[in-house]
Amino acid sequence: MLRQPQHAARRCPDCEAVLSNVQGVDACPDCEWIDESTSETVRRESR
Ligand SMILES: [Zn+2]
Repeated sequence: MLRQPQHAARRCPDCEAVLSNVQGVDACPDCEWIDESTSETVRRESR
């Protein structure tokens, strides 16, 4: 029986580095790309 990992590693669309999840937001440690679909909450708080 195969089980998918709870948090599958995602990759940056720009440089394909493995994204790191910081406070629920997927971000690229290489080029600082941020998944905007998950960073919506953070953006609101910064305004
Ligand atoms: Zn990147």
